[in-house]
Amino acid sequence: MPNPVQARQLHARTSLAAESVFSVMSRLAAQHGAVNLGQGFPAGAPPEFLLAAAHSALGTADQYTAPAGLPALREALAADLNTSPEQIVVTCGATEAMHTLADALYGPGDEVLMFEPVFDIYRPQAMLAGAVPVMARLTLGAEGWQPDLDGLERLVTPRTRALLVNNPHNPTGHVFSRAELGRLAELARRHDLWIVADEVYDELYFGEAPTPMRELAPERTFTVGSAGKRLEATGWRIGWIAVPEGLSPPQVAGLHQWATFCAPTPLQAAVAAALPLARENGFYQELRRNYGARMRLLASGLRSLGLEVYLPGGSYFLTALAPGLDPVHLAEHGGVAVIPGDAFYAEGTAPAGLIRLAFCKPPSDLLLALERLERYLER
Ligand code: GLN
Repeated sequence: MPNPVQARQLHARTSLAAESVFSVMSRLAAQHGAVNLGQGFPAGAPPEFLLAAAHSALGTADQYTAPAGLPALREALAADLNTSPEQIVVTCGATEAMHTLADALYGPGDEVLMFEPVFDIYRPQAMLAGAVPVMARLTLGAEGWQPDLDGLERLVTPRTRALLVNNPHNPTGHVFSRAELGRLAELARRHDLWIVADEVYDELYFGEAPTPMRELAPERTFTVGSAGKRLEATGWRIGWIAVPEGLSPPQVAGLHQWATFCAPTPLQAAVAAALPLARENGFYQELRRNYGARMRLLASGLRSLGLEVYLPGGSYFLTALAPGLDPVHLAEHGGVAVIPGDAFYAEGTAPAGLIRLAFCKPPSDLLLALERLERYLER
């Protein structure tokens, strides 16, 4: 029976509570047995050295940590990110890190600049904090995706508080060049803006390595990262924030504690052990090699089906144009799940036929998806 009290009393902000496009497409994929090139998560198990560390942590590291995180993990991250352990706050995934920063940095009346196409969490998180998300553009031209930095500059107002830079960028895979980042840093300095740098794909690039934003604007950049993305364990929910030197991390950790208190302790311990190992044993190089090969496999397959494909400089996504293709119909009747491009746009301004495909799946899945897509497009 419906509960009339509850129906009346949920707050208006639940209007932001729609099922995410990633959940929708994963649900459709499961329902219809479609190959899931939609939601970006690896199909296989995380690496053995990470799993072994987790097994030995269970039973020895099972109670709360301090909200800022397990000391061993803060130390490992500080070494990895070239900062001090005091500047690190460990969160429940990068999603919670971004949410905590929205709470910490902006509020009603503030404007937050971000690039469209835009990863789906940024707009609602800004709005939940009472702020207004403002869209700068990454535009699609003959050379692929390019940020419109002049356009971004024109969007700055006295109310602009922060600039959100996702690099490598989801969904386009654009890797902002050092020059582009330098220009953003200079603009942020001139207008006194915070920079939130979502760098969860920092180890996943296929050409030039992305420059960490905090190298260019150390005094104002909050860097967000993810063990789930780096170590292929997206369900573990271990993320982090590196707070600019000279600012107070306890204030950030103090907001994160109201949401989750701390991230799961045994998983923090496992990531602490695995981060230096991943560097020592060449895990990230291997990841780049594997994913680079899969990216090229998928891209050439899509091109031979006649699709326009835009190669990413980083991330595990590529974008393509498939005019007339309906991703929901494709998942239900064609056996392949992809993400519709308009999910990354606020006002239906997506390039016609834009889709995003994840290639962090086994080559056999990619080949099966291509085969099914070919049959579907023939119909
Ligand atoms: N980052 C992943 C993607 O873009 C998953 C996002 C999510 O489901 N929250 O596909």
